[in-house]
Parts: sequence; structure tokens; C-alpha cells
Amino acid sequence: MADVVTMEKLVSLAKRRGFIFPSSEIYGGVGSTYDYGHYGVLLKTNVKNAWWRAMLQERDDIVALDSAIIQHPRVWEASGHLANFTDPLVDCRFCKQRFRADQLEQAPCGHAPSKHPGQAPQCDLTQAREFNLMFETTVGPVKESGAAVYLRPETAQGIFINFKNVLQFARKKPPFGIAQVGKSFRNEITPGNFIFRTREFEQMEMEYFVPPADASKWFEYWTAARRDWYLELGIRPDHLRLRPHEPDELSHYSSQTSDVEYLFPIGWSELEGIANRGDFDLRQHAQYSGETLEYFDQQTKERFVPHVIEPAAGADRATLAFLADAYDEEEVEGETRTVLRLHPRLAPIKVAVLPLLRKDGQPELATEVYDALRGAIQAEYDEGGSIGRRYRRQDEIGTPWCVTIDHESVSARTVTLRDRDTLAQERVPIEGLADELALRVLASWQTPKLEL
Ligand code: ATP
Repeated sequence: MADVVTMEKLVSLAKRRGFIFPSSEIYGGVGSTYDYGHYGVLLKTNVKNAWWRAMLQERDDIVALDSAIIQHPRVWEASGHLANFTDPLVDCRFCKQRFRADQLEQAPCGHAPSKHPGQAPQCDLTQAREFNLMFETTVGPVKESGAAVYLRPETAQGIFINFKNVLQFARKKPPFGIAQVGKSFRNEITPGNFIFRTREFEQMEMEYFVPPADASKWFEYWTAARRDWYLELGIRPDHLRLRPHEPDELSHYSSQTSDVEYLFPIGWSELEGIANRGDFDLRQHAQYSGETLEYFDQQTKERFVPHVIEPAAGADRATLAFLADAYDEEEVEGETRTVLRLHPRLAPIKVAVLPLLRKDGQPELATEVYDALRGAIQAEYDEGGSIGRRYRRQDEIGTPWCVTIDHESVSARTVTLRDRDTLAQERVPIEGLADELALRVLASWQTPKLEL
């Protein structure tokens, strides 16, 4: 069955239900910048927590780091970003728009949108020039005398420049990793497609330091592990693929790269890149800083510069993929039901507690149930409006279970538990419900969209 999701539907649902809003809206907005509302924060936090869990909790060879956004400007000289982190830019003198010279085929002409830039008779494109994507700012009170610095365009370099610190304190030997989640900034020439490409976004990156001879083996390992992470969180296998880079596509630091791609409503696009960075970064920083950045094995007396395998993911892009994969519509009793079939671990709210009536002791019991549930999992209490409307609201934010309190609940201390996907309702005792649902959140899960 054809997928019903479109980017427009996602943007509209995200706004309607308070996940993601265009930023600075009351001032007319700033292009391609978004703010996350309550459910969006919960969802993206769950995505990041799932990543941390895979990196830290489920293994013991990776440690966490949170480095600064503003770093010494020499970091970006050493990493190659000052010289190489550029996109080719062309201006149109006629429509005054800017385009990426290497993506003219995908861009609509600013004057005649059915054509591409350069195809309409009025188009007057400049020569392509290289445009550095780093945001520059000044540290110090007076702009003229202050030092020019950059907002980090990736979190990775913060890891490399802390290699020595971590090595001293983490008591790890290669193979070991350092993981970081945080904001990165890129002055993208053509941002767009909702939160797929923005100028400010969050990355989830891990640098895995290995003995040089083992680099290829670990590259294969991490490529498979990262693909599996998305599958375990419910992404449909036919919407996920690995795409190895062609030799002419590789970045200056990489000898092997594979992208995990997702079939977004805009087509197959990169979700995450896994790169074999060799010893490029540690050698560069050693040369530029004068520090020794290598590993010395006390037992074998061997000294070497580790090679690095890097899985680099985007938290916002992953959130968009999970939203797109979860979005569904179905006919129920003559009405269209919109539902987010999110993995329970990712769902912003795990359970909603809904008293049928606002009297007869139901709100009181519902509050008691709510208090018990929220001690274990993210829960929400809602007593406003018809039960049908409240269910629809929970379906649209992807809440896997609704607990309804009715007159029988008050006398028998049982509730109805409604399943978001099957719509089945079962009568269950209040006692033990919190523990039961906490277990269900952690259980393995497969999207019912696979069966459609
Ligand atoms: P692209 O080719 O899409 O520009 P990239 O190859 O430059 O991405 P990396 O530098 O490998 O991206 O960054 C790792 C991840 O960070 C990407 O796979 C993506 O998920 C995320 N990312 C990169 N740029 C952006 C952006 N402008 N907005 C949102 N997420 C981004």
C-alpha cells in the first residue's frame, strides 16, 4: 500500500499538535529555523536518549563528552574546515536568489519555478565561488579588536581535541570511543525540507579509536550497528538502505564512507554517515597544537596513532525520519484517523489517563492512577472534551496506550487499556499497571505499517 505521508502533512501535524513550530513566527519567521514545542522536545530527547543508551548503557567501551561550541580558531585550521568546508555558490543577478552550483538540477528557478536556475531566458547566473559554511563571530567586547571565532560546524572536532584528556582519565585502550551530542551550525546555502536541513541542528557523533590494522573491520562493524539501531527503533527495513560513497565523493579525511539513507517523502536521503577517518584528525591536531596525540601500550611498549571510525548522525534528521515512518492514516467507522505509530520508546507520551466523566469519583481515581503511572513512565492526564476527541489527540501525538477510567473502575479498581495500533481495549487491574507498561515500553516492537 502506498505511504500516505507527505512533508506537508508532517509539517502541519507538527505545528497542530505542538511538536515543532517555525521559529520567530510572531516576527514573520526566519527561514528554515524551527523551535521545538513540548511533544517535540520529548520526542527528540527520546531519540537522543536511545542513541546514548546504544553508545553508553549497552556497552562499556565508549565514554561521554560535552565540549564547547566555541573552540580555538586553530581547531578549524587543523581540521581543514577553514580551507575545505565550502559549497560552490552562484547568484542570479536577475532574481537575486542564491543556489548551490552543484545542485542547480534540484532547485527551482527564482523567476520561473517550473524551470531550473539558468534555464529561463532572464536567468543571469554569476560564476560559482566557494562559500564557507561556518558561522563567524567575535569573542571580546569590541568587535574590531576581538578575535574571530566560529560556531562549530560539527561536534567531532571537540572530541579529537580532548583525546588526551579522555585517554588520561577514562582508563580505556583502543578500541574505545568518545561520544557527544550537541548543537552544530552551518550557514547552508539552501536549507529546507522542514527540519531535514537547517542552519542550526543537533548532531550525535561518536569517534571510535582503533589500532590502525583493525580500521576496516570496525568500519564494517559500525556501519551495520548503526543501520540496526534505526531498525530496532521501528524504521521499516524497506525504507532504510546503506549507500557506500564512490571514491570521488569521499571527504578529504575519509578513506571509506557509507551513508545510512532513509526514504523520506523527498526521496532517498542521508540520515547518517559512517566514515573511516584514518589518523587524519589526530595527526593534524598533533601538528597544529604541538601535543603528542597517540596511544602508548604499557604492556607491549607499542606506540601508535589510532585510526578513527566515525558514525555521525543528526538528531533532528533522525526525528524527522521517525515521524515520517510513523505517520499513518486509516479509516475507522467512516472517519479518517491520523496516527503516529512511533516505537513506544520514542513516543513523547507513553500513556494517557482519561476519566470518562468529570464526576462520580472518576477524576479522583484517574488522578491516583496518573500519579502512579507517571512515577514509572511519561504520562499525561486529560479530562477535557469527548472521549473520542481525546483518543484522536493521543493518536496524533503517538501515545501507545490510553487508560480510561469509568464507573466500573471506581467500584472494581480496573481500567480499560486501549492500544493505539490495534485499537483493542482490555480490562486490566490498576494494581501492577505501571510496572506492566514500563516493561512494554522496553519490549521489542515492530511497526504495524509493515503488515499493511
Ligand atoms: P549533507 O550531505 O546532507 O549536507 P553531510 O554529509 O554534510 O550532510 P555530515 O557532516 O556527515 O553531513 O553530518 C552528519 C549528520 O548530521 C548528517 O547525516 C545529518 O543527519 C546531520 N546534518 C548535517 N547537516 C545538517 C543540517 N544542515 N541540518 C540538519 N541535520 C544536518
